[in-house]
Amino acid sequence: MPVRLILVSMPWALADRPSIQLGSLKAYVTRAFGSAVHAEAAHPYLDVERVLDRSLYRRLAERSWLGEAVYAALLYPERTAACAGLFSKYWPRSEGSPAFEEICRKIKDFHDNMPLWRDLEKAHLVGFSVCFAQLASSLFLARALKERFPGVRTVFGGSLVSGVLGKSLMEAFPWIDFIISGEGEKPLVNLVSRLFSLHGGSETDSMQGSRDSFQTVQRQEGRGVPKPEDEKRPTGPGALGTLRREGVRPWGPGIFFRREDNSVDGGGWSQITNLDGAPLPDYGDFFREAQNGGDARTPIFTIPVESSRGCWWHTAREDRPHKRACRFCNLNVQWRGYRSKAPHRVAQELAALADEHKSLHFVFVDNALNPAAVAETTQAIQRSGKDFHLFGEVRLPLSRHEVRALRLAGFREIQAGIEALSDGLLRRMGKGTRVIHNVAWMRHCEEYGIENRSNLILEFPGSTPQDVHETLDVLRAVRVYRPLKGVRFWLGEGSPMALDPESYGLKGIGNHPHYAVLFPEEIFRRTRFMVKAFRGDRLRQRRLWQPVRDFLRGWHREDAVFRNRTGGEKPRLGYLDGGTFLLIRRRDRHGRVETTYRLSGPSREIYLSCLDAKPLDVLQKEHGRFSSEGLRRFLDDMVAKGLLFRHREWILSLAVEEGVKKFLA
Ligand code: SF4
Repeated sequence: MPVRLILVSMPWALADRPSIQLGSLKAYVTRAFGSAVHAEAAHPYLDVERVLDRSLYRRLAERSWLGEAVYAALLYPERTAACAGLFSKYWPRSEGSPAFEEICRKIKDFHDNMPLWRDLEKAHLVGFSVCFAQLASSLFLARALKERFPGVRTVFGGSLVSGVLGKSLMEAFPWIDFIISGEGEKPLVNLVSRLFSLHGGSETDSMQGSRDSFQTVQRQEGRGVPKPEDEKRPTGPGALGTLRREGVRPWGPGIFFRREDNSVDGGGWSQITNLDGAPLPDYGDFFREAQNGGDARTPIFTIPVESSRGCWWHTAREDRPHKRACRFCNLNVQWRGYRSKAPHRVAQELAALADEHKSLHFVFVDNALNPAAVAETTQAIQRSGKDFHLFGEVRLPLSRHEVRALRLAGFREIQAGIEALSDGLLRRMGKGTRVIHNVAWMRHCEEYGIENRSNLILEFPGSTPQDVHETLDVLRAVRVYRPLKGVRFWLGEGSPMALDPESYGLKGIGNHPHYAVLFPEEIFRRTRFMVKAFRGDRLRQRRLWQPVRDFLRGWHREDAVFRNRTGGEKPRLGYLDGGTFLLIRRRDRHGRVETTYRLSGPSREIYLSCLDAKPLDVLQKEHGRFSSEGLRRFLDDMVAKGLLFRHREWILSLAVEEGVKKFLA
C-alpha cells in the first residue's frame, strides 16, 4: 500500500489560481518516490469561495486580518465577539459590514461535511502550506483532523512558519507534529522517507537536471519504491507509534520535530541548489477540483510560475542585519541566497503549462526577476509565439529597453520595489536605488502599457519633514502616470529592522496586538507571530505623512476618471515625433488635449536623448555645441513646464511616445 500524503492549501489563498507550493511539492515528492507515495494536492479554498460567493471571498482574501479573524473564531468559538470586532475594524466602513457570524457558520458547516474528509481519513501524513493569511485556517483544519483521526501526522510549512516562527508555533499548538522551515522540497522528501522508511530522500540531490534536460527531468514514475525488506515494515499511521517508542530519529535539516519530553528541536534549512532540476509544478488536482465543483464560470485560471528563489539584492544574515538588504523586508527568511532558472527553461515551463491548462495568464511568484537574464528570458518567452499576460516583480533600475522587452514578452502588470520617492529614505531603507530610477520606471511603464502596481511606503520610522517634502515634489511631477499604492509601514519578523530595532528608533518589539484578539492570552504571550508591534515615532509619522495620503487619494480619483474617459489608450503626457520636430501633448483629466508644445531641431534631440535618465554632465558632453548656460536655461524651462524631470543632476524626459514606433527594434 502506498504512503498517502495529502498537501492542503487553506483559505485565504487567492481562488483564481492553484497553489504553486502544493504543485511543486507534489511533483517533487512524486518524482522522488514514484508509486510508493500517493501524493495529492487539496485546495479547500475553492469550495469556501463557492460557499461564500466570489466577491466576498476575494475581499476577505485581500486583507489578512479579515480572513484570520474568521478562522480564529472557528478555532476558538469563545473569541467570536472579539474576532467580529476586529473584522468590522478592517471592513471598509462605506460598504456595511457583512454578518460575521453568518460567514463563520457557513464555513464551519462546509468544513464539518466536506468531501475531503474521505481522503483525509486514509492519509498517513497531511501537509499544510501556510502563507499569507493561512495561519488560523490551517490551525483550524489541523486540529479538526487530529480530533477525528489522531494517528494522522501533520506537517506545516511556508513563509508564515519559517525559522523561529515555526519553532514557536509548534510549541504552542500540539496538533502540529512537524514544521518544515524554509524551502519545502528536500525536507519533505526527507521526512516522508524517514517517517515511512522509504528509500528516495537521499537521492534528491542527484536528481538535479542540467539546463538542457527539461524534458527528461519531468515526472519520472517508479523511483524510490520501497526496498524488499522495507515492504515488510509497517507503514502508515500504525507505524508511527513505533517510531515514537523507538525514540527520535534524525529528521534532517529544515525540520522542527518534537522530542519525547515534548520539547521542540531541529530547524535549519535544506534547499535545492539547481532550480532547473526541479520538476514542473503539478496542478492537475487543482484543475480537477475546480471542474468537479460544478462552477459555471469559464475555467480559465491564473497559473503561478517561478523563475527564481530568494532575492539577489538581499545578502543580510541574522548576525549581519545591515548587510545589503531592504531593511523592512522579511521575504527572505525562507531562502538562503539567490537561485534562478535558465531563460530557456522559464520559457519552456510557461509554454508547457499554457498548453496543459489552456491558459495564458501567469503570475511569477519570484521576489525579484533575475535582472541579468531579462534580455534572454524575454526573448525566449517571445519565441514561444504565445500571447501571454504576465505579472511579475522586479527590482530597479531597469532601462527603457528592458521595460520594452518585458512588455513584448507579455508582461502587462509589474510590481517594482519603488517604496519611496526621497533619496534619503531610499538610502535608509537600504533599497540601493534612487528617485530617478523610480520615476524612470513609472515613465517606461506608461509608455509601454504596463500596469505599474508598485507601492509607496508611508510612515517609515524616522522619516523627516524633508523626506516628505521631497516625496510630495516628486509626486507632483509624476502625476501624469498611473498612481502608486500607499501602504503603511509594518514590521515583519526576521526583517533587518526587526533584528536591529534600536538602529531605527524602534522599541518594545512584540507581537501585533491583533494576535491577542485572535489567540488566547497564553498563546499570545509565548508565541512569536509574523507581524510585530513596536513603539517609536508613530504618531508623529502619521501626521507627517497625511499630506501624502491626501495626495494619493486625489491622484487615484483623477486617474480613474482619465482612464475611464480614454479607455486607457492615451497618455496624459505624450509626444509624437515628426522627424525634425516633436509635438508634446498634455491632456486634462477628461482626456482632452489642453496644451501642445513643439520642440524643433536641437531641442527635439535633447529631449529624445533623455528618454532614459541621464546625468547632466553626460548630457552636456553629448550636446557640446550648446553652452552649459544655454543648456541649463532650456532644461529649467522644460522642468518648469512639467515636461522634464530633474533630480540631483539627473535628467529624464517625462512625455511618453504615443506612436507604435516604440515597439520596433
Ligand atoms: S524588498 Fe524586494 S529587493 Fe528588497 S530585499 Fe526584499 S525581495 Fe529583495
